[in-house]
Amino acid sequence: MKKHNFNAGPSILPREVIEETAQAILDFHGSGLSLMEISHRAKDFQPVVDEAVALFKELLHIPEGYSVVFLGGGASLEFCMIPYNFLNKKAAYLNTGTWAKKAMKEAKAFGEVVEVASSADANFSFIPKDFSVPADADYFHFTTNNTIFGTEIKHDLDVPVPTIADMSSDIFSRPVDVSKYICIYGGAQKNLAMAGVTFVIIKNDALGKVSRYIPTMLNYQTHIDNGSMFNTPPVVPIYSALLTLRWIKAQGGVEEMERRATEKADMLYGEIDRNKLFVGTAAAEDRSRMNICFVMAPEYKELEADFLKFATERGMVGLKGHRSVGGFRASCYNALPKESVQALIDCMQAFEKLH
Ligand SMILES: *Cc1c(COP(=O)(O)O)cnc(C)c1O
Repeated sequence: MKKHNFNAGPSILPREVIEETAQAILDFHGSGLSLMEISHRAKDFQPVVDEAVALFKELLHIPEGYSVVFLGGGASLEFCMIPYNFLNKKAAYLNTGTWAKKAMKEAKAFGEVVEVASSADANFSFIPKDFSVPADADYFHFTTNNTIFGTEIKHDLDVPVPTIADMSSDIFSRPVDVSKYICIYGGAQKNLAMAGVTFVIIKNDALGKVSRYIPTMLNYQTHIDNGSMFNTPPVVPIYSALLTLRWIKAQGGVEEMERRATEKADMLYGEIDRNKLFVGTAAAEDRSRMNICFVMAPEYKELEADFLKFATERGMVGLKGHRSVGGFRASCYNALPKESVQALIDCMQAFEKLH
């Protein structure tokens, strides 16, 4: 049976990316050696990093004066590297969910953290809009897409202080005005690559403004100066990221990714709103295009396990909602074909007919 992969992360990647990565693991570019057994400093591997950086810059229209680095440690390590590198006295954070909270927790070890707004009281079902950022904050941090709660800030914010965003789960799903940020980062395993690599886009002149000692590996400058090769980078994940970036470009870039994301999200939210069995959990104006969260309508609550089983038997994978929301979560990342969304909708309609 065909599987429809709605996993939240690690998650679906373009099939050709997986096949080409597998091929490179067996025999890298006809060298007779595996990608896993060549030096990261080998002349064949340097072009992989160079092209991946170049494609980042091209696809996101990154202006002059920014660097792109590939690190280990996941987005979770960035929660600590951000304040290490950018926080002098005070930082402002928008609290929109689990990942934002984790980022704030780390920052508190480095200075004063101002929570400018929070939707915790409503189980993070919406994005707070009326908040002000203290003008003396070193930076403002927010999460563009809340993977767990299914809310998303789909546009760049205008804030009077340097801005930093965790874009782990919606990078490359829309155009971004990078000039509005001093730093954008994310784990790769949602929309970009296999797990194991973290991307960080850094405005070069935003560094060097804190006076503390920064451990070498946690200092962004180290990785910029060494072109992501200060130590051994995660070579296979970087290679798979390169292949995904080539795929995005061939499909028509982030503009086309956004068109597809909007189309898929409109289809699925349309069905959630129409179908008497289901209700969406996120405020309509803040609905994520990447992670679509829904639950059974109150009068059908007891059908939750039945629907999950019904859908699973029809090839749906990864639909179970995160424990903080319950119900279901359909993650519709770039690589998820429209056909999979249609298959889920067909399932929802067939299940509705039974009840
Ligand atoms: C998955 C995720 C993270 C955590 O990423 P790791 O690479 O596992 O550390 C952080 N932020 C967001 C928005 C995520 O979706």
